[in-house]
Amino acid sequence: MGRIHLLDENTANKIAAGEVVERPAAVVKELVENALDAGANNITIQISGGGLEMIRVVDDGSGIAAEDVPLALQRHATSKIKTADDLSAVLSLGFRGEALPSIASVSRFCLVTRQADSLTGTEIIVHGGNIVRLEEAGCPVGTEVKVEDLFYNTPARLKFIKSAAAETARITAAVQRLALAWPEVAFTLTVNGKNKLVTPGSGQREDAVAQILGRQNMRQLLPVQWTGSLLTLEGFVSKPSLSRANRNLQYFFVNRRPIHSPLLLDALQTAYHTLLPRHRFPAAVLYLVLDPAAVDVNVHPTKREVRFTQERDLYRQLMAGVKAALKENSLIGELRAPSISSAWQEIAVHATQDELMPELVQRRKDDGGTHSSLPIFSPAVKVSEPPAAPTAAAGTAAKNNFPLLRPLGQYLATYILAQSDAGDLFLIDQHAAHERILYDAIKKDLSAGDLPVQSIIPQTFEFDAVTAARLQDTLNNFAALGLKFETFGNNTFILRSLPLFLKEIPSQEELVELLTQSKAEQDTMEIFEKTMQLMSCKAAIKANQTLDKTEMSTLLTNLSATTEPHTCPHGRPTVMVITAQTVARNFRRE
Ligand code: ADP
Ligand code: MG
Repeated sequence: MGRIHLLDENTANKIAAGEVVERPAAVVKELVENALDAGANNITIQISGGGLEMIRVVDDGSGIAAEDVPLALQRHATSKIKTADDLSAVLSLGFRGEALPSIASVSRFCLVTRQADSLTGTEIIVHGGNIVRLEEAGCPVGTEVKVEDLFYNTPARLKFIKSAAAETARITAAVQRLALAWPEVAFTLTVNGKNKLVTPGSGQREDAVAQILGRQNMRQLLPVQWTGSLLTLEGFVSKPSLSRANRNLQYFFVNRRPIHSPLLLDALQTAYHTLLPRHRFPAAVLYLVLDPAAVDVNVHPTKREVRFTQERDLYRQLMAGVKAALKENSLIGELRAPSISSAWQEIAVHATQDELMPELVQRRKDDGGTHSSLPIFSPAVKVSEPPAAPTAAAGTAAKNNFPLLRPLGQYLATYILAQSDAGDLFLIDQHAAHERILYDAIKKDLSAGDLPVQSIIPQTFEFDAVTAARLQDTLNNFAALGLKFETFGNNTFILRSLPLFLKEIPSQEELVELLTQSKAEQDTMEIFEKTMQLMSCKAAIKANQTLDKTEMSTLLTNLSATTEPHTCPHGRPTVMVITAQTVARNFRRE
């Protein structure tokens, strides 16, 4: 006898619910997306008990016709597409017709709805997938969905959901994403009776972003506006002065759908190359508009992941768009007013200089640590040596938004104080600035194919087997940078040349560090990059080194001619500003 039979509709819905609505936040997302698809201007979301007790979503959208109400609760019933062909052009958030029946199969569900042209509305109540009531009801235009006791009849799923607080956080994040994508819609999220998020629905993205990322952060965002062959990119990315240890401040939208895409995350990060230290992530709210045919949104039951047809071009274009925004705007972080006066008070009360400037001390330790124990490169590399022509500098200065600066003097023999034409006061970290100059110079020489190299008295190095193997694999990378190693056998190598600007040979320890620090075993590019960074760091002038006016001035000119004068190659800032206005304000002159 045959053993295969069709599942009844209710069972099929419960199975689908496992995918479509795996947790309360997914229910909220689906209901809010339905409200958005219905053209709502106002959406109110109320939750309690992390969404397990109750979720209520009220919208003022189109509503559902009385005869459609039972259909809306059937599987694969949708008003949004008719045939599979429509999928390639789909712009609505929903189209699978799965959400309502799935939710209703695992909760006590109630929907009340009315269209503008009908006098009465319709109410439907479904418990665990069974229709309990379907009747006329009086109600305003729009739709209200109430979901209670979510997962009451699927105890396994309920057990899997741990804390109400964590679910509330997920729900909040889901609403935030949709509110960012739909600034013309006014959202209200209430958690256990208290307002958690209210957006004005002004239609201005700035307003939604300020509400969700905070006004303080908003000030550190730069506008993005870019069009390429594949993509229109709009939104905001942060100056390097605003970053996080995780990606929590990053939002991507494709055709108004919040999405998660490792490809796009990576493209964004690459655009910040050398602008941020390792493991720091910028803030970003990026709206991508693509031809719907170039995006497959039907690869994931909740549609959070999408697939792109032209991944490489998209990667390049997103990166180009973000880079353009970073180039067009000043990236200098500002020292703001209140901190200055309080800093003065602190100086009066206690503390040595080192306590007041922990960062400087840290830097000195870093530098001192490597340099005193490993004194390998002459510190006396002249600032004027890097081959950056001042005339070129003037031209580039305008392009990278770096102001023309006149040196006033040196502070702590570590920072150059300088003034702009506008009268603002700048502090430049001389080591970081010189590092950037050298790094750019090396890159330029490399791409021109003529990095000047000097022969040296051959120097022997012996490494452990792992490091030796790594060097063996990357000999070409080092040679391209002017460090010509010859294999001598037995994990021993002979170094025969150095790039011209390095005055001394790298130490054994430094080479080992370089060869072992990059994690990805195969990533020779990373070693190459790290070597350039190390070389520029080692050859750069140090903190605690006195400079005369000409040297300072050359350094500033050369810095302004670099591709990215605002940060050193490791992503630390090279420069900060205290505006003339801030100074005047603190002296109560205005
Ligand atoms: P989908 O959104 O994929 O079409 P759903 O199960 O989420 O599937 O919803 C089924 C149908 O019910 C929708 O196609 C829509 O016509 C209708 N609907 C659901 N929610 C609303 C709402 N808030 N306002 C108007 N119509 C709605
Ligand atoms: Mg839907």
